[in-house]
Amino acid sequence: MSDNIFARIARGDITVEAIYEDDRVIAFRDIAPQAPVHALVIPRASVENLLGLDPADPALPGAVLLACAEVARLLGVDQSGFRVVFNNGNDAGQTVPHLHAHVLGGRSLTWPPG
Ligand code: 5GP
Repeated sequence: MSDNIFARIARGDITVEAIYEDDRVIAFRDIAPQAPVHALVIPRASVENLLGLDPADPALPGAVLLACAEVARLLGVDQSGFRVVFNNGNDAGQTVPHLHAHVLGGRSLTWPPG
């Protein structure tokens, strides 16, 4: 699990252009954007998905969500609206086994998602 692309980015083994970063999270643009704004927010800690969050560290999900809001502000979709998505497991289409929030915006997003 710790050898996936996001784990390498989180460790700093692979450099990305950060939109936002702090001691707990890093945010960067998705390589295959599904909307005009499509960023990913990942924790630096190794967590596979929401099911891997440690109840002893409730500040981590807070740090991820606060970073999502900051990314929305920085990328200018805070007023127009944006969507935050966590894919968890196969049926949700999770392809990278490191917790990540998609921050999507810049166009009208349909509901329900596919
Ligand atoms: P998932 O399908 O697991 O929820 O989302 C994984 C996302 O990571 C996809 O939207 C995919 O385009 C993105 N992605 C995969 N590899 C890379 C990469 O090397 N760099 C960046 N920036 N995004 C990636």
